[in-house]
Amino acid sequence: MSDQLESTQREQMSDELLLRYSRQIMMPEFDVACQEKLRAGTALIVGMGGLGCPAAMYLAAAGCGTLLLADFDEVDLSNLQRQIAHTQARIGQNKAESVAAVIAGLNPDVRVETLKHRLEGDALTAQVRRADVVVDCTDNFSTRDSINQACVETGVPLVSGAAIRAEGQISVFDFRQTDSPCYHCLYGTFGNEDLTCSQTGILAPVVGIIGTMQALEALKILSGYGQPAVGRLLTFDADSSSWREFRLRQDPECPVCQVKRQET
Ligand SMILES: [Zn+2]
Repeated sequence: MSDQLESTQREQMSDELLLRYSRQIMMPEFDVACQEKLRAGTALIVGMGGLGCPAAMYLAAAGCGTLLLADFDEVDLSNLQRQIAHTQARIGQNKAESVAAVIAGLNPDVRVETLKHRLEGDALTAQVRRADVVVDCTDNFSTRDSINQACVETGVPLVSGAAIRAEGQISVFDFRQTDSPCYHCLYGTFGNEDLTCSQTGILAPVVGIIGTMQALEALKILSGYGQPAVGRLLTFDADSSSWREFRLRQDPECPVCQVKRQET
């Protein structure tokens, strides 16, 4: 099939695709135009663990056109308690490949590309630049800070999620809006490097809740539906099943986003 023919076919949704996405399209607020925007969109999801598995699966099922799945790690037995795309049979396999296998069975309409090397520096920025939204599903502060820097640099919106023990949080940073804070405004250089699931533990459904919220926020950015949680930090407490919301503001001294804004 020529590229031109393929792209023409992707522009128009077949009856089968209209049926596939019908329960979404029938919402008056989420019509065919939103679905087509979602289908034309590219999401880079970094980290195919507890957050990345549900984020990737929901974005694929909902019809995000292209998914760039990044993880250099391999599936381990201790992951299976919460990283729901992986299976016993795929222990030892690369996590991005494992999720790609699930998505191929879930929705063949989605183009999937796996990025199996550690993303950092120029390579990270280059992949961020290809995306319409970045979904940060990583589990450590320094990687999150690097992803934020690449998103500020390229202007690509960032959906950030995190979960440990029985707590989760999510926020959206949209650098196309002049008043959006960035991840560094929130945490500065004081992010706690030690707070990862492998060291502190995690209640399985909590990563599912936060990862699914990340898929929702990315879907909103890609489709134009609803109002993404820009400038808001939502925190979830599983003990009491309660959400809290905090307003976020730009740090006027932020060395990441404020320096970038002064350059432009
Ligand atoms: Zn900032």
